[in-house]
Amino acid sequence: MIVLGIESTAHTFGVGVTKDKKILVNEKDTFTTKEGGMIPNEVREHHEKVKDKVLRRALRKAKVTIKDVDLISFSHAPGLAPALIVGRDFVETLAKKYNIPIIGVNHIVAHLEIGLATTKAKDPIFLFTSGANTQIIAHEGDYYRVFGEALSIAVGNALDKFGRNIGLGFPAGPKIELLAKEGKYVELPYKVKGMDVDFSGIVTKATQLYEKGVPKEDLCFSFQETCFAMLVEVTERALAHCEKKEVLLIGGVAANKRFSDMLDIMAKARKAKAYTVPFEYAGDQGAMIAYLGDVMYNSKNYKAPGVIDIDPRQRIDDIKTFWR
Ligand code: ATP
Repeated sequence: MIVLGIESTAHTFGVGVTKDKKILVNEKDTFTTKEGGMIPNEVREHHEKVKDKVLRRALRKAKVTIKDVDLISFSHAPGLAPALIVGRDFVETLAKKYNIPIIGVNHIVAHLEIGLATTKAKDPIFLFTSGANTQIIAHEGDYYRVFGEALSIAVGNALDKFGRNIGLGFPAGPKIELLAKEGKYVELPYKVKGMDVDFSGIVTKATQLYEKGVPKEDLCFSFQETCFAMLVEVTERALAHCEKKEVLLIGGVAANKRFSDMLDIMAKARKAKAYTVPFEYAGDQGAMIAYLGDVMYNSKNYKAPGVIDIDPRQRIDDIKTFWR
């Protein structure tokens, strides 16, 4: 079965193609800025502008035509409404024109499942860290359960906000990672509350220190060390609580080498195994959407819903994992 996966929940318009769950291509175009942040309407305009081009490129590289496609999967939740609408309208037009069935998948579940599909992790604690989300998740019963999360802003968003304040543009995570290599430690607020973490104070404090003349490099280094240590601490507690022996780092921030190294050190000390999703599948992309669409659609428990609309605020703990 050939599946087209369309991703448009946030900054990235992605098109993936899978054949019998094997990834053929993973094409994308990401909204970026030199200085400012991510403005929803500018993201919508970006997706409108690139969508046909990214689709054409994906089909050409996969050596298929739209008529070969058996199923279109799209990320219908959660995300920025203006960006989700572009994906939904695009998919509905294609489906109608070429008479192809559609399935809507949850973008976060897609991050989790592509992590399982591309690593050897079987039943891990997931540390999901992206621009919009920071959650510590495990599969228990028939649901993905959230054991801890960011109370104010997600870790990727904290990196991006701080980066914007010091003029790094969007996305700032990769630039902060580079600058951090040259930095040394300065103290920043470390806020862990039970199983939850709070990153808003660290953005304010680091920005104030920057304005007082503390070097960018030192702040980038300390920002990473502090945020990642907070996340490793709560992940370790989740491992102990759920009695699991694996941890899997997923989401855009998983691209950070220092972060995956810190998680590895913690896991080794607990005789557990740490996995990190491969770089190509860490951030938003269409391959994970195509892959999950195929898995769900071909599950014997799948029932097609009448209408598939966008759901900007859907939580993963509301979704029964009928395909597992
Ligand atoms: P979600 O997937 O929850 O909808 P999203 O669409 O913003 O959120 P992703 O594409 O998964 O997320 O991740 C983007 C985030 O990853 C941005 O905040 C970006 O700064 C961060 N990021 C990317 N590369 C790195 C890196 N090397 N180090 C740290 N952060 C990074």
